[in-house]
Amino acid sequence: MARDNGDQPDLIVVIGWVLLSLIFHRSKVEPLLLGKAAIASQLLLLAYVLLSVTFTGLPPVHDAFIILTAGLTAVSGLQYIYKDLNLQMPPKSGIEIEAVQKDSLAEQAGLQPGDLLASINGHKLHDAIDLMFHRDLDNVDLEFYRSGQKHKITLPEPEETDLGITVKPFKVKTCKNNCVFCFVKQLPKGLRKTLYLKDEDYRLSFLYGNYITLSNLDCRDRKRIIEQRLSPLYISVHTTNKALRARMLGALKACDIMKELEYFASNR
Ligand code: SF4
Repeated sequence: MARDNGDQPDLIVVIGWVLLSLIFHRSKVEPLLLGKAAIASQLLLLAYVLLSVTFTGLPPVHDAFIILTAGLTAVSGLQYIYKDLNLQMPPKSGIEIEAVQKDSLAEQAGLQPGDLLASINGHKLHDAIDLMFHRDLDNVDLEFYRSGQKHKITLPEPEETDLGITVKPFKVKTCKNNCVFCFVKQLPKGLRKTLYLKDEDYRLSFLYGNYITLSNLDCRDRKRIIEQRLSPLYISVHTTNKALRARMLGALKACDIMKELEYFASNR
């Protein structure tokens, strides 16, 4: 490869690398970060080769860069081959099965503790609420991962109501407020650790009645609350004066609570 102008990288090989990576990226599999890095590196190398054809006297490409490009390309290619063999990376979302009841639907279908449920009836799963919401009694198609391998099953007797699984608890969204009256901050030291968790999670509000301030909702959360009719939610209002509420919550970006409440009320 390019050590000097008389020993340029093989143009055809570099173009081949670029085309190969573009083909990978146009395939249906998700683009991987390494694939992108490989393409960027290949494009840089290609640009250098084209420049060196036009201009003489360019400094040689450093060996390390050529090795890096080749390495990225090789690893990226292996990742795609890995994917094509159906050995997909586990999805970012999903819920892990903690336990499977004896003689349950789940056991009959072959589900095991540790399996990662990715989707039900075509809907991605993020937590147990999704699992309950997207269950369809006439048809329960599940997609799950075991040891990195994807599986699809249809439950044998979907008319039964309980799948017979316990799932691991979801990661709780925490509170970014700094209320002047925060009861968590006022707790004495030495209590059990979970008591110091400042939770601010609409799912806990729906499931267990925890109070929330709505200050960490994003668009997806709002959409989901309405779509899945996650009601009632228990909301700490304190005051409807926006500036005063922001001061009380110690959160300059605290939402306009009246707008939030009107939004949910009008989308019931
Ligand atoms: S909302 Fe306020 S009181 Fe509740 S945990 Fe957060 S800071 Fe503490």
